[in-house]
Amino acid sequence: MRPTRLDPLFARLTTLKGVGAKLEGLYAKLLASEGPPRVVDLLFHLPSGLIDRRSRPTLAEAVPGAIVTLAVLVERHRPAPPGKSRAPYKVLVSDETGDLTLVWFNAHRSRIEQMCPVGETRIVSGRIELFDGMRQMVHPDRVLAPEQAATMPMMEPVYPLTEGLGSGHVRRAAEAALARLPVLPEWLEPRHLAREGWPDFAAALKRMHQPESPEDFAPDGPARSRLAYDELLANQLALGLVRANLKRPAGRRNVGDGSLRERIAGALPFALTGSQTAAIAEIAADMSAPTRMLRLLQGDVGSGKTVVALMAMAAAAEAGRQSALMAPTELLARQHAKTLTPLAAAAGLRVAILTGREKGREREDILAGLASGAIAIVVGTHALFQEHVRFHDLGLAVIDEQHRFGVQQRLALAAKGEAVDLLVMTATPIPRTLVLTYFGDMESSQLREKPAGRKPVDTRVIAMERLGDVVDGIGRALEAGRQVYWVCPLVAEAEEPDENTPDLAAAEERFALLQQRFGAAVDMVHGQMKGTDKDAAMVRFSAGETRLLVATTVIEVGVDVPEASIMVIDHAEHFGLAQLHQLRGRIGRGAAASTCILLYKGPLRETARRRLDIMRETEDGFRIAEEDLTLRGEGDLLGTKQSGMPGFRLARLEHHAPLMETARSDARLIIETDPQLASARGAALRDLLYLFGRNEAIRLIKAG
Ligand code: ADP
Ligand code: MG
Repeated sequence: MRPTRLDPLFARLTTLKGVGAKLEGLYAKLLASEGPPRVVDLLFHLPSGLIDRRSRPTLAEAVPGAIVTLAVLVERHRPAPPGKSRAPYKVLVSDETGDLTLVWFNAHRSRIEQMCPVGETRIVSGRIELFDGMRQMVHPDRVLAPEQAATMPMMEPVYPLTEGLGSGHVRRAAEAALARLPVLPEWLEPRHLAREGWPDFAAALKRMHQPESPEDFAPDGPARSRLAYDELLANQLALGLVRANLKRPAGRRNVGDGSLRERIAGALPFALTGSQTAAIAEIAADMSAPTRMLRLLQGDVGSGKTVVALMAMAAAAEAGRQSALMAPTELLARQHAKTLTPLAAAAGLRVAILTGREKGREREDILAGLASGAIAIVVGTHALFQEHVRFHDLGLAVIDEQHRFGVQQRLALAAKGEAVDLLVMTATPIPRTLVLTYFGDMESSQLREKPAGRKPVDTRVIAMERLGDVVDGIGRALEAGRQVYWVCPLVAEAEEPDENTPDLAAAEERFALLQQRFGAAVDMVHGQMKGTDKDAAMVRFSAGETRLLVATTVIEVGVDVPEASIMVIDHAEHFGLAQLHQLRGRIGRGAAASTCILLYKGPLRETARRRLDIMRETEDGFRIAEEDLTLRGEGDLLGTKQSGMPGFRLARLEHHAPLMETARSDARLIIETDPQLASARGAALRDLLYLFGRNEAIRLIKAG
């Protein structure tokens, strides 16, 4: 149960003065809260900037363009002339050094007369400008009598807003929320606080919402760092607790004798790379340990993860257990099944596929085979885990392309607490910091070597104006017997959608154009087609019946047609870097030298230009992942369409990544010394988990 001292923070926002039922909806939108927004949600909604009103120059000293606070004498009013109501209302003011015109559009005369009585001194604050050589201030932010001036914050927070919710309102609500902050026991080590010079939690929040200097507000300043650390610690602690729970001895060693793996290795048409062999050994060691395996297999597109997964599944089979491989799309599940079936057969293992599409008799057979254990390996989509699929004895779950599933789903799956070994494969090399953020101290194996015989892909960036040349070039390549992917983006899949983003109609138009030119050699596959039609199109292309495949990003993940050696990415500026890299990975798999054409429509935005440049410069997935991280923030890297780190409200990777390692070792130490969070600090840490919505983890302590 949540400690009662946190109640004021978890009260609905409507309990604050000035936030009524009508505004609650707007706040829910602004704060992106799941249920009704609570006080803590607003406190974690930090200002995005500051208006510094501390500069108090004389008029002669005031620099045009700057925000200044001035003490001036009101000289004269110049209302809009009669009949010209659209003209601004002006008030002339001065100090000993010069004069200034205050300007209002659409103003109420009576209000201004009341605000600026002639002959009196006023404190005005706002941006000063030069207009026709005269100083002016349009719509001053503040006009106050000298005795009221003390109430004006010299550092004014600026909040991210949503339509209908004004800055002043959010500021006052935040002020009311701060007043609710209870005194909480400190969850950080006093020595740690002292070393960093960090304030306590409440003081840190106050400094962020009511800063007294820009330093208070700085992203790497003490207040913000403290809050970011709190959030990172809550995250690491929650992951650590989940993991400690999962790592309980499962009492199941999946030890095989190597016989099936040997037979499969013998059936492979190639030799394993060094890093594949190493990964297979690491996985086998995990599986044969009495604890549950939680391992990430990272490897660039085409690095050969599938065969590593197969070896792990064979090891499970040697131990008499079944394996399930979950793919993010049906297309990819089918492709996996196709690759795995003959290799597994070499070891006498039966592979089945199970997606939403298997129906009736076929489905019954598969379910029976899984229940009896006759099927050693099942490949499918997430339907595998959601539906009532019963295994005879499931030993290993492999999840392919995990970033597609999202962290929550992974945690949900992991928290099921089955004693199943878990191998997560990802084709987007995830930078170390993000591995820590999302997987805690999950073990990781990396495939850094490319399988032998791979040729580099020649990548070219070409403007849409040269579309004609590109089509001609494709024509020559088709005549020479080559196969081509032509990838088109879709609105929903585009990185920065705007009104110019191509949609399915654009893809179909392109298809029509290419078909007109190259006839029956051209085919199309897109996400809105029926599954069977998609498969049929892929099969035709893979068999070489069609030679140019116009596709939306359904081909992004895992599709393997080694003969295809040319890829045109249409409107490449609409794709994210990780996505471009994934797409390009579809070619360069066969014997022929490959070419990737990034066809863009200018003018390019700076980040889009940079993305295309990086693609031209490198094929190194780890480098691309790092660049991607700097270019677009962390959110999209894991396929979530948020800005900032998904699931994080205060921590920003670009500023707070260095805190992650400390948070991680802090969390680890806590779990080692106080796994039940039973000490005084432990109790405070429970508060922390609640504050950051990581209290799910507390439930696990009880289970443990
Ligand atoms: P990914 O890591 O993208 O899933 P795949 O497992 O699909 O990569 O492998 C890509 C291609 O490389 C497949 O055609 C596979 O048969 C082949 N392959 C895998 N390992 C090797 C190897 N050691 N040598 C040569 N080819 C390999
Ligand atoms: Mg793959």
